Amino acid sequence: MMDEMKYPGSGPPPGIAVCPTPHDNDGYVPDEGIIMPPTAPPFEMPPQQRMPVVELGSLSDEDVREACLQFASENCCYGTKFIRETALPKIFNGCTFHYQLETYGEKRETAERHEPYRGEYVDGPENGFPPAPWTIEVPIPAMFVPSIAKVEVPHTARVKECLRCVGNCRIRCESCYGRGGNTCWNCHGSGRRDARPCPSCTGSGRQRCWNCSGTGQVKCGTCDGLGRLRHFSLLIVTWSNHVESYITDTSKLPKTEILQAQGKEIFKEENLKVYPINHATDETVNAASKAMVEKHEHAFPNEFIRQQRHMLRAVPLVRAEYVWKRKQGEFYVYGFQKKVYFEDYPQKCCCCTCC
Ligand SMILES: [Zn+2]
Ligand SMILES: [Zn+2]
Ligand SMILES: [Zn+2]
Repeated sequence: MMDEMKYPGSGPPPGIAVCPTPHDNDGYVPDEGIIMPPTAPPFEMPPQQRMPVVELGSLSDEDVREACLQFASENCCYGTKFIRETALPKIFNGCTFHYQLETYGEKRETAERHEPYRGEYVDGPENGFPPAPWTIEVPIPAMFVPSIAKVEVPHTARVKECLRCVGNCRIRCESCYGRGGNTCWNCHGSGRRDARPCPSCTGSGRQRCWNCSGTGQVKCGTCDGLGRLRHFSLLIVTWSNHVESYITDTSKLPKTEILQAQGKEIFKEENLKVYPINHATDETVNAASKAMVEKHEHAFPNEFIRQQRHMLRAVPLVRAEYVWKRKQGEFYVYGFQKKVYFEDYPQKCCCCTCC
């Protein structure tokens, strides 16, 4: 132990005391002068306990029929005779897992902008070097909510003559092409109508332009008639929330249905970075979590990841087999709200009188 703490060959450098390491570390207080190793980067996986067994309850034959009745009542062409008569030889009470990862990223861009200069204070490069985009502090409005913020980059402003009107404040009228008027529509420029002076132009043959009141020029819209523009760099910060889900086997029930179904949350975690879960009872969930977390790490190269969160929930999923009028099939009752799904409902009619 002593050897490990000594510098090779020459013994301890001056000023640094080498202490023998006691065999028993209990109550050991290090002497001053001992160089402590640097702290390891925080790369520790948070402790993950095994998940409790989820108890979602189960549906009886009667519960399943009741859910079907509710479902049929919401669809006017679905008869209820089937629900009353059908045999339900097998009802499988199960559950499906829904894992979701959210990555909240921030993107920063700069763009050159200008606006009419009204004589306000100009924060130009003479005030200092413009800060790099990622060093500007822009508060996050709300975590996991997509948002955009625009901030002027300090010390980038300068005033220049308007590019469009070259400082004249006025530009050529586009309605009359600068002529101040147009040929009279009534007399086509002759000034006369039925051998009398034209009533529309009082004999001039021209009509004054409505847009420029005959001057041939209008106010420059770029500088708002002020002749000068204030140019500056704008920092555009975009926050995006990237959401991805994994749903375990749902048989013939479309997985998207599970996203809307109520279930029980069994795990939830939020941090600057999350680590894949490895303690779900369904191994495919652990694998999906690992793949998703790894993917999100590199999927948004333009963004700085501000926060991540993931959750796992269990959604009740009941698969029922039916036999009715020599027809066999299956349907699903899922979510705490007992939603029902049939690939093809067995008793559909158009007249609504047979049921
Ligand atoms: Zn202008
Ligand atoms: Zn006329
Ligand atoms: Zn005009």
